[in-house]
Amino acid sequence: MTHRPPAGREVFAGGGQEAGTSRHETEPAGDPETGEGEMETTLRGIGVSHGVVIGEVRHMGTAELEPPTRQTTRDEVPHERRRARQAVEAVAADLTARGNLAGGEAQAVLEAQAMMARDPELIADVERRIAVGSTAERAVYDALAAYRALLAGAGDYLAGRVADLDDVRNRIVARLLGVPMPGVPNSDRPYVLVARDLAPADTALLDPSLVLGFVTEEGGPTSHSAILARSLGVPAVVALRGAVELAEGTVVAVDGSTGVVTVDPDPEQREEMLRIAEERRAALASATGPGATSDGHKVPLLANIGGPADVAAAVEAGAEGVGLFRTEFLFLDSGGKAPSEKKQVEAYRQVLEAFPEGRVVVRVLDAGADKPLEFLTPAEEPNPALGVRGLRTLLGHPEVLRTQLRALARAAEGLPVYLEVMAPMVSDRADARAFADACRDAGLRAKFGVMVEVPSAALRARSVLQEVEFLSLGTNDLAQYTFAADRQVGALARYQDPWQPALLDLVAMAAEAAGAEGKSCGVCGEAAADPLLACVLVGLGVTSLSMGAKAIPYVRAELSRRTMAQCERAASAARASDGGEQARAAAQSVLSGE
Ligand code: PEP
Ligand code: MG
Repeated sequence: MTHRPPAGREVFAGGGQEAGTSRHETEPAGDPETGEGEMETTLRGIGVSHGVVIGEVRHMGTAELEPPTRQTTRDEVPHERRRARQAVEAVAADLTARGNLAGGEAQAVLEAQAMMARDPELIADVERRIAVGSTAERAVYDALAAYRALLAGAGDYLAGRVADLDDVRNRIVARLLGVPMPGVPNSDRPYVLVARDLAPADTALLDPSLVLGFVTEEGGPTSHSAILARSLGVPAVVALRGAVELAEGTVVAVDGSTGVVTVDPDPEQREEMLRIAEERRAALASATGPGATSDGHKVPLLANIGGPADVAAAVEAGAEGVGLFRTEFLFLDSGGKAPSEKKQVEAYRQVLEAFPEGRVVVRVLDAGADKPLEFLTPAEEPNPALGVRGLRTLLGHPEVLRTQLRALARAAEGLPVYLEVMAPMVSDRADARAFADACRDAGLRAKFGVMVEVPSAALRARSVLQEVEFLSLGTNDLAQYTFAADRQVGALARYQDPWQPALLDLVAMAAEAAGAEGKSCGVCGEAAADPLLACVLVGLGVTSLSMGAKAIPYVRAELSRRTMAQCERAASAARASDGGEQARAAAQSVLSGE
């Protein structure tokens, strides 16, 4: 099933935010002469990074390279062994170098891939295969296939790492075969990158001036690829069935807000897309200053950061502070042990100094599940996402929590910053009390709060709020636990749609409880980065929104066009719906006055 591009397409692009996007009717579009090429003109995936682009499809070079089998002679063994070792080391070093270049969250992901390549057991397996007559490339291919099967069968959580492992294998095998590395296509014209799934090694180095946007067949809204796309600021649609069938060179219009990909848009559709893009650009340019609705209801817009390296982008986007400082990256980079108190003080101080008058919400270490730390996370848990993670890990290692809280207290000393500290994965009042006690014991002068990521915390938010001063909704995990759907599994991406009314109900419960207690309730999950949904969240009573820096201008612009009453009406319409897509359409229709 392919779709042929008519010749001579121009490529044009327009960045911007979601607003009043029209949805085109779905029609078949086969080639009448050959009968070939039945493909819908409108495909729907999940929009995970805002903006609209129209451009030609270029596929990622991710084809699996299967080296031929050949029995080597005994004399060749040392040579093959050397080739294998050199290739593994070169690929690992390249991944590390890409990580250093990319910085931020991408670096941790690429480092993890470099570690996969250097895994001593894997290298031993490769050498065993070479010793019995495999070529270096075949030995790497077979050893990684065995490793892959183990990973894929080890539960959904580890299965999520298979794409990263495949990328490592493709890179080593390509190097040994002397063929180009899989990855971003060579093109001097801008294009829409299409792939089954994007490996972090490639997304981290995408050139936004050439890559207009990307579309993947797999992945979900909280997958690595989605997070990296947002940090690059290119529109992206994931979990789009049929993406890999799009023929090279086909023109597609990608709306990274609605998740709609229009194949071969006709002149009217193109005009409509450009009009939307223009409207969004104008709205972006005209909205400045602190976040607020058009009738002056203030909603602080804060940044999610992974460390000091992300601060510049947050300041540039006009963030009014940090709403989520994910401190685990500091621990992931720390060579298998907790970073020293001194190292932590330095990192925290750099962030706090960047927002002298602003608000900085630091989340204490969130280890376990999708962020395992060898020295803290139990090795054999049947369900890591339901196991010892987040605050549960810290309560089992009080010395780690104590050191982190002490480091935060020292980092804030003498600064006028408005420090808030929160715990991840809090389930009930007892958890909240244990965290608040630990903060007090460490002599921390800050506001203490908790993340609402587990439905029980939302259901009993008033009780939780007896112990702490604020709530922050982690909608990524809250969706995972509400729908019992692992956030790392692409096939379950539908459940990660933050528009799901059940999730909105829980947000409303938490926000109402905070309102009744006179306390604040922000959102720091990916939901806050969707401009339309941001309006709905505000309508539900959420008091601040925290997101990747790139999304802030889009959210600010959208919010500045709506009154509080409109946001409330959109929120009610969304909650009255039966599914995520209907909720979005209902809110859209209220906000565009239909
Ligand atoms: C969340 O779960 O929504 C959240 C913000 O935390 P993380 O994505 O780091 O788990
Ligand atoms: Mg979370």
